[in-house]
Amino acid sequence: MSNEPRHFDLIAIGGGSGGLSVAERAARYGARCAVVESRRLGGTCVNVGCVPKKVMWYGASLAHALKDAPGYGFSVGETTFDWAELKAKRDAYISGINGWYVTYLDDSDVALIRGHARLVDARTVEVDGIRYTADHVVLATGGEPVMPEIEGADLGITSDGFFELDHLPGRVAVVGSGYIAVELAGLLNALGTDVSLYLRGEHLLRRFDNLLREHLTEAMLEAGVSVFPRARIESLRRDDDGRLSLHCADGRISGGFESVLWAIGRRPAVTELGLEAIGVIQDEHGHVAVDAYQNTNVAGIYAIGDITGRVELTPVAIAAGRRLADRLFGGQKARRLDYENIATVVFTHPPIGTVGLTEDEARELHGEAVKIYQTSFTSMYHAMTDHPVKTAMKLVTVGAREKVVGCHIIGPGADEMLQGFAVAIRMGATKQDLDDTVAIHPTSAEELVTMR
Ligand code: FAD
Ligand code: NDP
Repeated sequence: MSNEPRHFDLIAIGGGSGGLSVAERAARYGARCAVVESRRLGGTCVNVGCVPKKVMWYGASLAHALKDAPGYGFSVGETTFDWAELKAKRDAYISGINGWYVTYLDDSDVALIRGHARLVDARTVEVDGIRYTADHVVLATGGEPVMPEIEGADLGITSDGFFELDHLPGRVAVVGSGYIAVELAGLLNALGTDVSLYLRGEHLLRRFDNLLREHLTEAMLEAGVSVFPRARIESLRRDDDGRLSLHCADGRISGGFESVLWAIGRRPAVTELGLEAIGVIQDEHGHVAVDAYQNTNVAGIYAIGDITGRVELTPVAIAAGRRLADRLFGGQKARRLDYENIATVVFTHPPIGTVGLTEDEARELHGEAVKIYQTSFTSMYHAMTDHPVKTAMKLVTVGAREKVVGCHIIGPGADEMLQGFAVAIRMGATKQDLDDTVAIHPTSAEELVTMR
């Protein structure tokens, strides 16, 4: 019989952004903790999300830069791009992070249990037939991509499959209109794939401010992505030439695709987790219901990150986990994550940075008290290039003091620009505060403190 401990103060199910964070923070307070992980440490973000995506985004940014270079007097000869080489380097980088996490857990005195966890009761977790107990169990199993329930769906891939592609596909259909659809469509296009983007509705990024939607659509069309709104896809078929074709409800057929990528959302990873058996309440999509303190309805069981379906971003899972540990073991009884004003970036070309209320949301909440400041211009960088990409910015303010409740940016550098403005907005900055801040020149960001 092994001498490994079987009882812990806290067990986190899932070794992704949330689970690793809650266990590490709790261990710092002296709690005995374990993380259970069935696959690779780091979860979605590290293995099939933010990290490999950002590597590819950097690659795509270089492809754009190579096209821009003649505008600055460079004569760039014929360039080639080796997808397999980049993939191999990316995979090696990620393996390094996987290994780093093993050391991180070890250094943090957090036990790592490998295998699929299932709840037996509110205090007991079973992994490969071995039962472990804990005073606190944190559900942090994340999510997985959704496949449509239509004929031939299996012929397509999801974002998970995208990261397995061993060569640059020639012609691809991306179905969806959210973060993943626009990011992967954008980077494939930049790297040389012929991309068609199929939206079921009218617009991409439906929940984003209209300024961002319009400018991104324009930039994607300009870059050569074909965008098809109102496409209700009924089936996916493999044709005699081996290529894939999409068949829409209105009779439209689009063929010749080497690959079809479903990017139609994610669902919580709750399969064989044992939630029903112990009565953990889930919503109609399977997300675990939690209160403002990440408590589920079952005492001693908590949920953080994508499994809760609330703002599915890595820093959100991390922040929720750390605050939960602060509350349970750090004596900070009121500590919880405030889900308001969370900044987010969409890694398109150009990137989008957004925080707070959209103009439509603000008008619905505050009506006539809303005042908008917005601008659109070509950045100095693009003044020299052959494809002048536009930058656009919007500040949404409310009331006589013009409190800034939303900031929306699309343009080169928006990804790095937003973080500081998110701090200011969280602190309650007004338009006057922004105006009183001396600009940094020459930058695009200075427009945010000089807008009329
Ligand atoms: P996860 O990171 O998914 O971790 C859950 C872990 O639990 C997994 O490792 C899984 O194997 C394990 N697990 C599941 N069930 C069990 C079980 N029963 N027993 C044991 N282990 C189990 N967010 C950003 O902030 N920025 C980005 O740029 C970004 N890009 C993204 C790009 C893509 C393509 C995708 C898919 C997501 C992206 N995200 C991004 C979202 C981000 O990855 C997630 O919000 C984040 O990973 C959620 O963390 P989590 O801890 O809730 O779950
Ligand atoms: P999103 O929720 O962003 O988008 C899903 C999209 O799929 C929606 O726009 C929806 O369209 C569309 N859709 C849903 N069902 C269908 C269908 N049957 N047919 C066609 N389209 C459909 O999900 P993603 O999967 O793109 O990303 C999941 C989450 O991961 C994101 O919400 C985000 O939180 C996170 N993420 C973050 C990133 C970042 O921080 N940069 C990058 C990638 C992911 P409609 O608009 O019509 O409802």
